[in-house]
This record gives sequence, C-alpha cells and structure tokens, in this order.
Amino acid sequence: MIVTIRFYEELNFFLKKELRKRQIESEAAPGQTVKDLIESFGVPHVEVDLVLVHGRAVDFSYQVQPSDKISVYPVFERFDIGELSHLRPEPLRNPRFIADVHLGTLARRLRILGFSTEYHNHAGDAYLAERAADQELILLTRDRQLLMRKIVLRGLYVKNTDPFAQVREVVGRLDLYEKIKPFSRCAACNGELHTLQPESPEWEEAQQQIPPGVRTWCTEYRRCESCGKVYWRGSHLKQLDRLLAQLEQDRQAT
Ligand SMILES: [Zn+2]
Repeated sequence: MIVTIRFYEELNFFLKKELRKRQIESEAAPGQTVKDLIESFGVPHVEVDLVLVHGRAVDFSYQVQPSDKISVYPVFERFDIGELSHLRPEPLRNPRFIADVHLGTLARRLRILGFSTEYHNHAGDAYLAERAADQELILLTRDRQLLMRKIVLRGLYVKNTDPFAQVREVVGRLDLYEKIKPFSRCAACNGELHTLQPESPEWEEAQQQIPPGVRTWCTEYRRCESCGKVYWRGSHLKQLDRLLAQLEQDRQAT
C-alpha cells in the first residue's frame, strides 16, 4: 500500500537529499508501525516529537493504513515548551547523559561544564541502551541504529564531529545554558568535586598532587569525591574560558 509522509525542520538532515522537504510517496507493509516506517528513512524515533496522520496525533505503535498522510515533527527539546511534547517523555529538569564509545572528548567537556556524563570506553550498544533506559539518561551518539532501539526513550543524534562544536550542539539543543556549573565535576571519572578547606588534613594530602610551581600562586583546589583527583584553575582555564564565552554568545543568539 502507498502512504504519503513528510518530515519537517531538522529531521530533513537524516534524509537522502532527494527526499528532503517534500511529500514522499512510500510503500508500506500491512501492519507496519509508524515507528518502523519513520526509521526506514533513517530518522531515529528519539528525534521525533509529534506524528500526525491526517492531522491527528498518533503514537509510535500506530499501524499505517492505505493512503495515510503522515507528518513527522522533530523534538523541540527546549524545556519551556514541554507541554507541546506529544511523544517524548517529560524533559528531564536535570539532564544526565551517557555517551557512546566514540564521544569521549565530548563526555569530558560536558563533565567540565558540570553535567553528569557516563562514559565507558568499552561499552557495547546493548549496555548503553539499557543503561540509558534504566537510569533515565540521555544517550549521546552518532549511531542512528542505536537510537532506533525501542527502549531508548531519550537520545540525541550528535551531528557535529568536532568536540567543541558537539558541546555547543548539545547545550544548545537542550537549552542547558542556565545549568552550566564549571568545575563542579571530575573530567576523568564524572565524580563530584568539592572545594578543599585550606590547612585541612585533606588539603595537606592533596599538596602531593600539586606541582610546586602551582602551589606558589594557587589557593583554591577542588577534589573529586570519587577518584581523589585534585583540580585547580590551571592549564584548562584558557580552553574552558573560550568554551564558556562561546556558549554565552550562543545563548544570547537564541
Ligand atoms: Zn574523579
């Protein structure tokens, strides 16, 4: 049977060039769900927020019928329009992430901005999907197949390949500008950082991790509660400041 389907806005990114921004006549199998049909075009269901059939909202389990006219709209992840979300679960007020094995740099940068981001360099697809579902984590990946798994409810296809651009993309799409807390989380292990009290036993112990040259000028240190790594505003600062300045510019542009 033949149906008509059209993808809107940034969902066109996932389509072959010749199918973008137009009505597509498509063959559909009897009993095929609208989720399957949408994903057959390469569009992961987690990127879809609203599906209309002849103007009426349906869910992903809807079985397509002959001559259906289907409109597919993207997720508008901005938190302040939550009530418009039809197919997505409630946006998470404090989003936490899990990144796939190819996004280690992005994971570390999100941690530096204060966002909890799980990352394991040997995690397989099944683990990532289950962990995201169990823990209500937003799965970050450049693997569309992974985002097409049914149990994945929250996910983001990361379009950029450059890590600096990837951070801007994630923060921008989820409108996380107000939630950035630099230097509150360990880039290495995702643990939370706390400030060391000067002259405390912990402070004394931490001194061993700090080069003598740094000790002469730096008075504020933070330590990871999970792995014990000590942080100070040193070499990361320039890079972090550049990133924060760019994110502030992005925020003002929205
Ligand atoms: Zn740590």
